Amino acid sequence: MHCPFCNTTDTKVIDSRLVTDGHQVRRRRECIQCHERFTTFEGAELVMPRVIKRDGSRQPFDEDKLRRGMSKACEKRPVSMDRIEQALSKIKSTLRATGEREINSEMIGNLIMEQLMTLDKVAYIRFASVYRAFEDVSEFGDAIAKLQK
Ligand SMILES: [Zn+2]
Repeated sequence: MHCPFCNTTDTKVIDSRLVTDGHQVRRRRECIQCHERFTTFEGAELVMPRVIKRDGSRQPFDEDKLRRGMSKACEKRPVSMDRIEQALSKIKSTLRATGEREINSEMIGNLIMEQLMTLDKVAYIRFASVYRAFEDVSEFGDAIAKLQK
């Protein structure tokens, strides 16, 4: 990494230790060029990527929105809230595993459909019909509610 003092790319790690109960690594570095020392902290980034909507606008990832949409799709179906939560955490870890900072809303929609397909066929069809019509994940919750009326 670049030295914050002289901007050279050659720095070496002179000390490395676990901090915050092992959730972070603290590294003491020294610049090869100017010999200044500085500290870096490294931790896992558990922040969810942001969502790119079809119109190109960005939104923060909204877990509740997904939960609402999925439970609406599973309404009056033999699917427990536990199984919905499990599906949701699978979707989240898939999104995190991409390592991307921004994710297309279509990808999230497809992941939801994949999960619903294994949970309950009716829920899947409900979700897919609404999702395809609206083509925007952010609106499926309301749309499914309307569909069921
Ligand atoms: Zn330097």
